[in-house]
Amino acid sequence: MDGFDLAEERKKGILTRAPEIPRDCMKVINQERILVRSSNQEQFYSVNTVLNECDCKDFPRIGLCKHLAAVWHYFGGGKHSAPTAQLHPTAPDLHHT
Ligand SMILES: [Zn+2]
Repeated sequence: MDGFDLAEERKKGILTRAPEIPRDCMKVINQERILVRSSNQEQFYSVNTVLNECDCKDFPRIGLCKHLAAVWHYFGGGKHSAPTAQLHPTAPDLHHT
């Protein structure tokens, strides 16, 4: 199944490049939702940290995307471990809008 292998390779690449998304591009809404700004346009994607889902068009293809990977990178978590304990919705850098 070439498709499966390609998906696995793509996932690896996404996880490897997760740190490339700046922390500044993320906006914590609450313990289960973080917005991640698109890298090249003024658009935010909504990442659900409980379900580990993102609403961008890439996510449904392989069940992973750079936004979700970046959230894991900065806030911890991943499959089977919700990152909510490490979120700080009241952190000073989140007050400005
Ligand atoms: Zn996404």
